[in-house]
Amino acid sequence: MTNIWKIIQLIPEYRGRIIGLILSSAVLGLGATATPYVFRSIVNTITDLFGQRVDYAAALIAVGWAVGAFAVIRLFTTLFGYWQDHQSDQLWLHSISTLRRRVFETMTGLSLDYYERNRVGDITDRFGNCITVTQWLFQLSEGTLASILQLVFGIIVLLIKAPAVGLVMLLLVPYNLISSYLAVKKTKPLRRRWNGLVGKMSGLLSEMVSQIATVRSFAGERIVQRRYDAVQDEWWDVRRTETGIEQRSAVVVNLINSLAVIGSIGWVAWGALHQSYTVGDILLVFALTQAVITTIVPITRLVNTAGDVDSASERLVELIEVPTTVTDRADATEVEPIRRIEFRNVGFTYPGQTRPALRNLSFTAGEGQTVALVGPSGSGKSTIIKLAMRFYDVSEGEILINGRDIRSYTQNSLRTRIGAVLQDIALFNDSIGDNISFARVGAQRDDVIAASKAAHADNFISRLPEGYDTMVGERGVRLSGGEKQRIAIARAILRDPSLIILDEATSALDTESEKLVQDGLKTLLRGRTALVIAHRLSTIASADKIIVMKDGQIAEEGDHASLLDQQHGLYSRLHGLQTA
Ligand code: ATP
Repeated sequence: MTNIWKIIQLIPEYRGRIIGLILSSAVLGLGATATPYVFRSIVNTITDLFGQRVDYAAALIAVGWAVGAFAVIRLFTTLFGYWQDHQSDQLWLHSISTLRRRVFETMTGLSLDYYERNRVGDITDRFGNCITVTQWLFQLSEGTLASILQLVFGIIVLLIKAPAVGLVMLLLVPYNLISSYLAVKKTKPLRRRWNGLVGKMSGLLSEMVSQIATVRSFAGERIVQRRYDAVQDEWWDVRRTETGIEQRSAVVVNLINSLAVIGSIGWVAWGALHQSYTVGDILLVFALTQAVITTIVPITRLVNTAGDVDSASERLVELIEVPTTVTDRADATEVEPIRRIEFRNVGFTYPGQTRPALRNLSFTAGEGQTVALVGPSGSGKSTIIKLAMRFYDVSEGEILINGRDIRSYTQNSLRTRIGAVLQDIALFNDSIGDNISFARVGAQRDDVIAASKAAHADNFISRLPEGYDTMVGERGVRLSGGEKQRIAIARAILRDPSLIILDEATSALDTESEKLVQDGLKTLLRGRTALVIAHRLSTIASADKIIVMKDGQIAEEGDHASLLDQQHGLYSRLHGLQTA
């Protein structure tokens, strides 16, 4: 239950109202407990009339009062129940919205490595547990206290009216709760596994959807299907074992409950035959015995579902409590426009890895300079960029921005100063205009158009039937590679950053698109400090400095001409390969 409690702590403002709702359900409980008494009174009056212990007029008045009381109770509990449902629904809507918003906010702040390590579907499945938890909480708050009151009241009356029956019912309560608790405890590891498998299936599904082009191109439908089926089969087995344990426990419990009820009814009937009970008493005892049994069941069911909900909450709590590896220092300040970025003896190893991705790396990009990073795949170029954007903190050495450690600035202010055009251009499933204005809060349509013109994107956008309002489709699938790149450049221009980070796309563009993209990039880079990963060496001939990376270290450094002069150097060899 600690996990459920942790979730409640996330929405403390609703705690009072939830408790109020729980307490108000007591009214319904009281209404329900009074009903058997009304029945008893009617039946006793009628038997008194038949036994000629009261006259007709008095019996009529007594029955009239009883029916009137019953009508008042029913009407009141119906209206109150309606009011309570409405309140509960409103409270649920508010609390689920707040909870989701808070979890979403926590997720936007999680370190990048969490997203790199986990499947999208698994993360969204964890997020989806917000509903499971709040729904259960409201199910609990709506009727539980009413049921408990009914139960306690029923047992007390039974203990007074028919002590033996009361005692049996009293023993049944802990027996039901303990059996249910033991079954829940036994199945907890299974439920945890089961929930994990649900997350895994969502992960496989989202992966299949996002990679559908690759799946199709490799005719890999059967492979992904088999992977999915294997997880689903395991899920099936786990669920079957879990429900098997629960059902076996429930059968035994229900049998014992039924025996207890049969015994109690037999006992009371025997008492009635020997005239120790009135007919009304028999009815009261029957009604209360039945009420006790029917309220124990939902209460124990809540204990059962508490197990499910707790393991769902556990997955949600794990998501909320992911330690953030990159945090702002208490004394972090806002960064001024970035003029200079320096890597000083930087070493970096990815979390969970032993082999460093970067070793003893030192270089500087001065004001307005373009530093190009080249080198074979896996040599550490993207890692440099991730460190410059502070997606990770360095393991050794330091990165200096305008002469001060990158960790002395707030992450937000740092990233607002950076304009990144990355290889895998992420566009939201939104209009082109909104995708570009994402770069600057409050940007007007004129600013968006100006940035698009500078990025040579306005031409193709204006030709689209709905212009800037054209929806791009998820991940920008309705746009060509060159178009996406130009939108990304327009976005970066609109941001007006002081540091440009550019991971040049590897896919080849046709000559015309290539020229448009290059022109857009020129506008973006003008007068700004830039770190550029260049895959086509021809595009970085004009860079102020070229860093050639190999195995996480700098192999060569210089400008295009001086590097080409080193005939047996790596750069000269790479250049030779590309120009050949
Ligand atoms: P490419 O040109 O192919 O993009 P790169 O030069 O940019 O390669 P990096 O992506 O920086 O190379 O990778 C450097 C090393 O770090 C590689 O050995 C890679 O396997 C490893 N690496 C990269 N990202 C991660 C990660 N998220 N977790 C663990 N290791 C990683």
